[in-house]
Amino acid sequence: MNQPNKAPEQFDAVIVGAGFSGLYMLRRLRQLGLSARIFDSADDVGGTWYWNRYPGARCDIPTTDYAYSFDPGLEKDWAWSEKYATQPEILDYLRFVADRYGLRSGIDFSTAVLSARWDTQDRLWTIQTDRGAQVRCRYYIMASGCLSAPKSPDIDGADRFAGQVYSTSRWPHEGADFTGQRVAVIGTGSSGIQAIPVIARQASRLTVFQRTPNFSVPARNGAASADRLKQLADDRDAYRHAARWSRAGMPVEPTDILGVTASDAVRRERFEGAWEQGELFAILGIFADQGINPASNDIVAGLIREKIRSAVNDPQTAEALCPKDHYFGTKRPCLDTDYFETYNLPHVQLVDLRSQPITSITEHGIDTVGESFDFDAIVYATGFDAMTGALTAVAVTGRDELSLKEKWAAGPSTYLGLMTAGFPNFFMVTGPGSPSVLSNMTVSIEQHVDWIAGCLAYLAGEGLETIEPTALAESGWDQHVRDCAAITLYPTANSWYMGANVRGKPQVFLPYIGGVDTYRRACDDVVAQGYLGFRLTGPGGERCRDGVIRSMQPDVALVLEAMAEMGLPALETLSVADARALMVASAQTRPPAPEVGEVTDAVMPGPGGDLPYRLYRPAEPEGPHPVVVYFHGGGWVLGDLDSDDPLCRDLCARSGTVVVSVNYRHAPEARFPAAALDAFAAVQWVHANASALGGIGGQLAVAGWSAGANIAAVACQLARDAGAPLIAGQLLISPVVDSDLTRPSYAENGDGYLLTTALMRWFWDHYADQADRADVRAAPLRGDLRDLPPACILTADYDPLRDEGMAYAAALKASGTPARHVRARGHTHTSITMVGVVISGAPLRAQLGQALRDFFPPGGHSSSKPHFLA
Ligand code: NAP
Repeated sequence: MNQPNKAPEQFDAVIVGAGFSGLYMLRRLRQLGLSARIFDSADDVGGTWYWNRYPGARCDIPTTDYAYSFDPGLEKDWAWSEKYATQPEILDYLRFVADRYGLRSGIDFSTAVLSARWDTQDRLWTIQTDRGAQVRCRYYIMASGCLSAPKSPDIDGADRFAGQVYSTSRWPHEGADFTGQRVAVIGTGSSGIQAIPVIARQASRLTVFQRTPNFSVPARNGAASADRLKQLADDRDAYRHAARWSRAGMPVEPTDILGVTASDAVRRERFEGAWEQGELFAILGIFADQGINPASNDIVAGLIREKIRSAVNDPQTAEALCPKDHYFGTKRPCLDTDYFETYNLPHVQLVDLRSQPITSITEHGIDTVGESFDFDAIVYATGFDAMTGALTAVAVTGRDELSLKEKWAAGPSTYLGLMTAGFPNFFMVTGPGSPSVLSNMTVSIEQHVDWIAGCLAYLAGEGLETIEPTALAESGWDQHVRDCAAITLYPTANSWYMGANVRGKPQVFLPYIGGVDTYRRACDDVVAQGYLGFRLTGPGGERCRDGVIRSMQPDVALVLEAMAEMGLPALETLSVADARALMVASAQTRPPAPEVGEVTDAVMPGPGGDLPYRLYRPAEPEGPHPVVVYFHGGGWVLGDLDSDDPLCRDLCARSGTVVVSVNYRHAPEARFPAAALDAFAAVQWVHANASALGGIGGQLAVAGWSAGANIAAVACQLARDAGAPLIAGQLLISPVVDSDLTRPSYAENGDGYLLTTALMRWFWDHYADQADRADVRAAPLRGDLRDLPPACILTADYDPLRDEGMAYAAALKASGTPARHVRARGHTHTSITMVGVVISGAPLRAQLGQALRDFFPPGGHSSSKPHFLA
């Protein structure tokens, strides 16, 4: 109990955890002149390396990199004995660090923090420990680790077993002697895979209970990599800098080789190289697309399975050890020493729980369906309540009695993985929403600790006392974290990254997968923008620059970066011929377009001569199909049948319609209204020839992108005015619908996102005289919008044309024309059309495909009221 009348001790900061994070945090705070105290339930430093002392425990990031880098002197004075250090050596290292910097005096060992409560009045946290002490602090910092709260054994009868019970994450300090014992190991994650070969050396019989086989790569432990040592010796600072600005916190040369297009020889060579290297980030980076493209991932996974089959003598056991239910990397892969070979020992047996599930643990051992096993010892290697378990284990109460557990009931929500709204001055080191477990932890820990220290120094310097993220900034970051994960294969696995290993835990992708470099830049940008998205308060008042730090789709941002690096000239600075040539050249580098049933090129008559068209017929269902007349983008000046070919294929395959892509006349050779008249003529011709084209008579829609959407919209108005043909719907993708270049989206997005204000001006100048630009056939927004075909209009956030597209959707609705608006969140004018390149565009194109289907009611009759609005 807290002693009566004794005021609680007060610190500037309380830190929970004396592992890698807590130790460095304490040092940094002391350097700032702040008072700080660490609480840790262990009786020594070490954090995860204090508890996880099971046989075979080692790090799986090379020791050249799995160490502090904040002090070159420390690096000089400590020499690792191996490429991958054992747990005792890592613990010795952390003890050495604690002693070197005199940190022990700031740590209360054998003391667990039970609760933390924010006092709004005093702007202080009150911390309650299990030793009765209450302390108060301005800043409460959880340095409690991502993999520190063990998952409780969730197997029936677990408490019944009368023999010895061990857990890899809470191993006894005196060790365990399995000599002559019959031992069971449950779990084949990193811990199990490291422990199994070592336990097998002692046990008289070892039975491994495996639920999910895991990918594992030989660690090839031994001396540290000569190459890495040389790089460090040559230029230590450059090496550390490269690590901090790398994708995963280790200098690894990124590749742009795609698994899907590499030759068999290249695939094999790259794989064997990584296999020999024995480093996780090497095998995770064989191909640039292995984390996002199933076909590429299958190549790597297949080659690893080949290795497993060749290592394990018994084919049935080998097959059971081959992971087949998840993509490589989507569950944390393991590094091992002789793991698969261990199953060749006569006293080691694998029990595949998929075919032979455990029914119960008994007094004497384990019962499975069909077989009972007796054991002297059971070892649980069943993992952790990862990333959130240790944070919510403390009863944290923020402003307005908000509990962290309740706030995170549907999954954690954070700003930068560092803080969470409603909990002022509460920091997390490597919290959910930061790269953490997907990176070299030591680099990520140092970055977080440095950021927090920089923040506290800033607050002190500005006379401020509290900091808390805004709801807007936090939801923006959460969305960005989800967007980054969504374009990868990672969320498809039942992994602890997803919270899938803990019964009842909400399934969301917990870490930030956008990369250590990208993440660091975001954190730095937040600071550079005056702590964007944080509310800061002090005696002098409050300040807040609210906003979202990243809202562009991550793959769109990558494409923009890549294009900026190419240094291509701005199209509007070129002659029309050169601009067209550049468009054609860049189209050659596209990945293969989606397959459709049939593609044919032909011509149709037009008002100024024959118009080439390309017809795409879907592979299924069997025809006849509804027909969509499509017009390509390119500002009425550029583009042709090839330019929008991938998009047409994609729309055809997704919608099950025949798509007729028409190459209308271009400016400046044929200026306004040639393109619009061609479009209307094409619609009339396709309508008249629908059956011959394999279409269903009367089931006709129009579609287009950009300037193509402009003439598609105009064709709808012309058809309405002419009384025919009847058009079932208009799909307008980022349409030009007006010639007013002063809308806010021009100011916001007119520079830097490929389609610029200058380029739009160039297009208009080539297409139409000033006097014609208000003509409804150039600016359909200015026309009569009544009685038009139902519309689906997509607008992109980072598009100068965004506002006119939205205005068109609103105006159509106001005129009684049904209109659906699809917002392409985080996209640019062009990104939605980058089929096979911008993965985040695929769900949007799925919506467009569905919109086309919805134009045509299932009964086969065209209607002015589409299915989706019915
Ligand atoms: P883990 O990866 O979550 O593995 C737990 C294992 O136990 C899985 O095979 C899991 O099967 C199995 N399991 C869980 N509950 C079970 C049940 N009720 N019945 C049967 N099997 C059950 O945990 P971990 O091995 O402790 O590793 C966690 C993470 O810690 C690693 O991914 C790694 O990031 C880190 N770690 C690193 C090192 C290192 O640096 N070398 C060493 C150890 C751990 P399912 O897959 O079917 O759920």
